[in-house]
Order: sequence, then C-alpha cells, then structure tokens
Amino acid sequence: MSRLIVISNRVNPPEDSAVGTTGGLAMALSAALREYTGVWFGWSGHTTETFTGQLSMQRIGGVTVALMDLEEQDRQEYYNGYANRTLWPLFHFRMDLAQYDRSFSEGYERVNMRFAETVLPLIEPDDLIWVQDYHLIPLARELRRRGVKNRIGFFLHIPWPARRLFTILPGHDHLVEAILDYDLIGFQTEDSRESFTDYIVHIAGGTLEPDGTVNLNGKQSKVGAFPIGIDAAEFAHAIESERARGVYDKMTESRAGRDMIVGVDRLDYSKGLEDRFLAYEELLTKNPELHEKIFLLQIATPSRDEVEAYQEIRAKLDMVSGRINGAFSTIEWVPIRYVNRSYRRDELAGIYRAARVGLVTPHRDGMNLVAKEYVAAQDSANPGVLVLSEFAGAAAQMKDALIVNPFSREEVADAVRRALSMPLAERRQRWESLMHGVQQHDVTAWRDSFVTALLATPEPQFETEAASRPAA
Ligand code: UDP
Repeated sequence: MSRLIVISNRVNPPEDSAVGTTGGLAMALSAALREYTGVWFGWSGHTTETFTGQLSMQRIGGVTVALMDLEEQDRQEYYNGYANRTLWPLFHFRMDLAQYDRSFSEGYERVNMRFAETVLPLIEPDDLIWVQDYHLIPLARELRRRGVKNRIGFFLHIPWPARRLFTILPGHDHLVEAILDYDLIGFQTEDSRESFTDYIVHIAGGTLEPDGTVNLNGKQSKVGAFPIGIDAAEFAHAIESERARGVYDKMTESRAGRDMIVGVDRLDYSKGLEDRFLAYEELLTKNPELHEKIFLLQIATPSRDEVEAYQEIRAKLDMVSGRINGAFSTIEWVPIRYVNRSYRRDELAGIYRAARVGLVTPHRDGMNLVAKEYVAAQDSANPGVLVLSEFAGAAAQMKDALIVNPFSREEVADAVRRALSMPLAERRQRWESLMHGVQQHDVTAWRDSFVTALLATPEPQFETEAASRPAA
C-alpha cells in the first residue's frame, strides 16, 4: 500500500479522539491518517522573523506530523490575505466582501513555493500526495516544477463558485491552469463539480469527457464529487462517554422542560447567523404561545478575528441577540443563549442530544459536519429534527431534513415551528433515513473513495529531458 502524504494549511490532529477541534477538516484528516502510514504536513501556525524552511516532526494522536513555521508577512498576505480575504468570501458567494490586493496573491504564490520546497525531502517515489483546500491550489504546480512525478490529488472543502462569479477573481485563469497539475480534483458536491467543469468548458475553452476528465491547454485532470462525512464510529463512542452523558444531564436540567433549538458554528458570515436570529425572532413574534416554552442555544466559536469582516459579524450578532433578548426575555426566561466559546466534541454530542431541533442555516457551506453530528447524536427512540439550509453541501445528501432557504425568515421560522410539533413517528422515520446516510457516507468512505479514485488516475506523464530539450 502506498504511503499517504497529506498536506494542508494547518495540521492539528486531536490529541485524544474525543476532544473537539474547531473545524471539520482536522477531524476528517486525522481519521484518514490513522489508517494509512504516512505524514501530515503543514504550517505550525507560528511565525518567525525570516523563513527557515525547517521541518519539525512529531507524533500526535497516532499520526506523524511535519510542521514548518512561516514569516509574519506570509501570515498577513497568504493566510489573512489571499486565503481568508479573497478566496474564502468569493467561494462563499460574497463578492461584496472579497478583497483583491496584489500583495495577497504574491504572498499566496510565495507560501505555496515554501510548502513545496519544505515538503520535498519527505516525498518518496511511491507516495500518494493529497493536498487539502483552497490555501494550496497552486501546490501541485510547484511540486511538479521541482520534479515530483507522484500522483497528486486535491480536495476542496469549500464550495466552488458559479462560473461567472469565479471570473471576478483577478488571475482566475492562472489559478485554474495551476489546479490542472493535480491528477484528481475533488469537490464536496456535484453542484461544485459542475461549476468547475462549466468554467473549463464555457469560459476557458477546454473540454470535458464523459468519465469526468477535463482537458485544457494540454493538461488533463480527473474531476469528481466526494462528499465528506463525519467519523461516525468515533462519534458513536463520544456520545456514550461519561462527559457526553454529564453534559446531556446538565442540559436536560437547565432546559427545565423547555424545548431547545441548537446551532453550533464557527463565527463566520457564511453561516447565516444573523438571518438565523431574525428567523427565530419571527418565530417568537408569530407564535406567542411558544414564549417561555422554547429557547435557542447558539454556540458561535470566534474565528479569524484579525479579519475585519469577522469583527463586524461578531459585533452585529452581539447586537441582534441582545436586542431580541431585551425584547422578549422575562425574569424567568432568556430566549437566546448566545455563547462565544468552543466545546469538546463529546460535550457537543451531549448538547446535540438534548436539543429538539438542530438548526443549520448557512448561506453557503462546503458540507457542514454539524448537521451530520446532530443526527448522529440523537436518541433513536425519541430523535430531534434537523432543519437544514439548501445551500449547505450536506443538503444534497440529507434530503429527510426539513430543507429551508436560509435567506427567508418566514420559511425558517415555519420549519422550526413544524419541527417542534412533529409527531414521533415522522421524526423517527426521517431520522432513520438520515442516520443511515451519515453512517454509510462517513469519513472512512470519503477517504477510501478519494484514494481509490486517485490510484485509478492515469500514471502522470512527463516529457523526458531529452524530449523536452529544444531541437538543435
Ligand atoms: N466544533 C467543535 N467545538 C465547537 C464548535 C465546533 O469541536 O465548539 C466542531 C464541530 O463538532 C464540527 C466542526 O467543528 O466537527 C465544524 O465543522 P463544519 O463542517 O460544520 O464547519 P467549518 O467550521 O468546517 O466551516
């Protein structure tokens, strides 16, 4: 079996498998690497005055990790700049928030070169290389330039934007040219895959073959959808843990017979939190009989707080939650419990289980693992109901959730109302079908289907030196 070299921006395997780390990627990748031998390489999150290119190898939670530091300028231009101020908003359909600064794209190119230089000595001829996410789109090109002939796959964890939206990005053609140095390009959904191939065919003038191979300017890549899942086995273990049970008991006591609606998100504008609060306000306004009978627990873990758009959404949510609580609270009841901290995954498992409704309403989301975790945490005898945005990648698989348009307050409020009064038989029927999907399409299935597809790509072809030398 080939070794697997996983490369991502950050490397953070959980020390102990039940501990939550914020971000779905970390959980999925550490599960993938525990199975294969190999290395997980990325940025340590630390910066030094000048780039050293030194590798630090460690073993964490059963996974070998290799870390490098970057420079402060890299962090500003590549991470806070191109990744989180340019690509993230644009790929989440927020062209109003996307910033285009030449120093950002220069920093992005520079850091991708640094990744390639530093990981190079770790790569052996038979290794499979699997690059993760939007931070590292040009990495295959940089590795190829340095003579790497291995199969290299890329998986995008976030959505790929509609083709016309993507053309807003200055240098979009160069980015796509670079992505075609991968042998396999994986997306979360068919929708993202189609947006990408639409661009190749209708904007870039390339072709798409029936087997999902795209051709452009003499380059060829296989393209596919590989929806990511949760580590269902780990989650089943977490839900049985003492800590999960303890949290469940505490929540049950603290909800005092009221029905709890739960939201768990990174504090990100893509998660639709303001509209979620406004939909909940609509629900309270339209249904006075629900007052004091329900509450919303919204866990919103602060994220990327050096970027202004994140400071702004945080201030906005403080204001909106405060206003709604001020308007509706009584001396015995607070309608929104708004919490800006993070919880371990086993604690979340207990919280999800105590909630009658899981409210997952992002404006755009690559997948959304919280939706799957909420389902996995339910009691089969008395499961809660998932209300899910049609714009989360998860909606393509989780059709038995109550699917909503997160931009419509009325629609979300009506769905929550329906979820709160749904009869047990319907709840069980929906949950059983959702749970089946969560277990079938778990992180192991995701990893195996991607790796199998990467192994099945044609052997990368390179011109020999003699052939590529210009004729005398
Ligand atoms: N998470 C966590 N603790 C928290 C909040 C979130 O461990 O306090 C985890 C959550 O369990 C999930 C992940 O963070 O596994 C979030 O993944 P998702 O795909 O929903 O969104 P992302 O943050 O990757 O955009």
